[in-house]
Amino acid sequence: MRAKLVAANWKMNGSFASNREWLRQFASARVGSEVTVCAPYVYLTQVAEALRATRASAGAQNLSAEAPGAFTGEIAAEMLLECQVQWVIVGHSERRSGYGESNGMVAAKAARAVAHGLKPIICVGETLHERDQGRTLNVIAAQLAPVFDACAADELAACAIAYEPVWAIGTGQTATPGQAQEVHAAIRSLLSRHDPGAAAQARIIYGGSLKPSNAAELFAQPDVDGGLVGGASLSAADFLSICQSADRAAGTSGHQRLE
Ligand code: PEP
Repeated sequence: MRAKLVAANWKMNGSFASNREWLRQFASARVGSEVTVCAPYVYLTQVAEALRATRASAGAQNLSAEAPGAFTGEIAAEMLLECQVQWVIVGHSERRSGYGESNGMVAAKAARAVAHGLKPIICVGETLHERDQGRTLNVIAAQLAPVFDACAADELAACAIAYEPVWAIGTGQTATPGQAQEVHAAIRSLLSRHDPGAAAQARIIYGGSLKPSNAAELFAQPDVDGGLVGGASLSAADFLSICQSADRAAGTSGHQRLE
């Protein structure tokens, strides 16, 4: 059985002081699922240090597809590794729509991440217009095709794919468990056509207005292997509640502190 993965996406939020309190609350709780906290770059070292005694890791929200060099304002995979980052979000819809990231650019970032031992959380998902036109699966297949071409099967097995319907991100409108399961199963079948072993191992997580009140029924779906949590991750209590729903769905009891 695949272990659940729960990722916090703090987006462009936080301060050293407020993070300290969030991390204190998180680190003193019991969580059995795999957790990564994707923080703004400047806080990655703070997050990694605070989580050192737990099983959770620091995650980034983006990386450059380029090797270190003359790319003002960019951050390379090598730099994230120096900050003890394990996971990195690539292709979030806010980057696709606000910063012009194409499917090809997202695949190049995923490939550079895995080549350096980082695990990408590759975000895919349709707009409401695309869903209304019945194009959800075509859109997602087009988003994933260059990723499948750019990464080897063993690399894909270590990735996570986040299904994040654009209409659900930050809107309070969550996909129903049935809608999420249908798309997650379709993503697994796309991956399976490419490599059945990778399809069995890769985590496919759901994101889009996930909160304590709806996490349990989403995590109960057979192809929902966890969640990517935006707004609700800003509250340590809400995020912990979502992690505990993941624990219950996976039947894990929660021992995050390393003995
Ligand atoms: C996200 O931005 O990845 C996300 C899932 O946001 P929210 O939970 O706020 O919808």
